[in-house]
Amino acid sequence: MKLNIAGVMQKIDGVYYIPELKNNLLSMGQLQERGLAILIQNNTCKLFHPTRGLIMDTTMTFNRMFAIAAVMPSKEPVVFFQTSEEEKTQLWHNRFAHLNFKGLRTLHSNKMVEGLPLLAAPLKVCNDCLAGKQHRNNIPKKSYWRATCKLQLVHSDICGPVTPESNSGKRYLITFIDDFSRKCWVYFISAKSEAFTMFKKFKSLAEKEVGSLMGCLRTDRGGEFTSKDFNEYCLLNGIKRQLTAAYTPQQNGVAERKNRTIMNLVRSMLSEKYIPREFWPEVVNWCVHVLNRSPTLAVKDLTPEEAWSCVKPSVEYFRVFGCIGHVHIPNVKRTKLDSRSSKCVLFGVSEKTKGYRMYNPITKKIVISRDVIFEENKVWDWTEDDINVLLKWRDDEIDVAEIEEQDQVQFEEQE
Ligand SMILES: [Zn+2]
Repeated sequence: MKLNIAGVMQKIDGVYYIPELKNNLLSMGQLQERGLAILIQNNTCKLFHPTRGLIMDTTMTFNRMFAIAAVMPSKEPVVFFQTSEEEKTQLWHNRFAHLNFKGLRTLHSNKMVEGLPLLAAPLKVCNDCLAGKQHRNNIPKKSYWRATCKLQLVHSDICGPVTPESNSGKRYLITFIDDFSRKCWVYFISAKSEAFTMFKKFKSLAEKEVGSLMGCLRTDRGGEFTSKDFNEYCLLNGIKRQLTAAYTPQQNGVAERKNRTIMNLVRSMLSEKYIPREFWPEVVNWCVHVLNRSPTLAVKDLTPEEAWSCVKPSVEYFRVFGCIGHVHIPNVKRTKLDSRSSKCVLFGVSEKTKGYRMYNPITKKIVISRDVIFEENKVWDWTEDDINVLLKWRDDEIDVAEIEEQDQVQFEEQE
């Protein structure tokens, strides 16, 4: 066996070594039989090798033993290192809604976010990614006209109907993307006719944040965007319209592509955590939150969030979506018999109140809390019926192979 003694690797053979024992004995008689010279003098013991000279020395302990502090080297230290580094990479890949390794490295090396560690080991093949990405889009070649300031151009598109319908009765999602920063906002609606209400909601929120007015809105010619009310409202507010030609969704490429990216990520995450499909809006929200803090080729060296708000986002609070979290219950809210924490499932974050969205499957309620202890490798044991439902949306009717915009390419490439 090999032992590391005072920094020198020593090979000792013909011995019984019992790892569980705190102290193992080495016989002086045997050592001298092997040709070593032993000198015991002034409470110290020295071992001399015939050719190497002094190889160990030690002082006497209170019970007249000579202790040698020996460390058993791990058999394959390099492998141990790799495993933990690979786990770290996988953890951040999962926390980042399956962002690929290149994207994670870009975020770190270009200092685009706070709180992301250096990931030394590359990502292994991720099965959840393979499950989520059924299509792979071509990498676009041309670059198109880009807005030069926030809200100059906004892209929007509706995706759905999604089946099954969400726990809150939603069937569609509508996204708004600011062309300049590529920040994305998402809203959930039960019917396409609600698009107009959501547009007004988004417009007032975004204009207030930026302090300037929206210039142009690019959508397809879907009835929800071309109603009389919608048209009149835009006319009254001085919002120019760009309506893409019918049956050529690639003209609305930014929004189309974003919706597809989001839904593919949602598929990966549902596959990873076995979350009942009816909670898809929660997953969509988290994906959009992550995408806004991920690299996009459309904005150089900045995340969409920073390009929009001019503040470097922190990702320190990122945890694996759908994992178990124990929410601390404050004293005032519990009786003596209540436990100090309740077991919940992480459903992303609340951007308004800056806390984790924690779903309690027993009470079927969401609580917002900052006081959570996570078990990121654990999942809730949902009943199987809810999980085996396939999440579908009407994405087969669109052929996006020819989308021109170079947006979120990093998400589309396979690791
Ligand atoms: Zn993955």
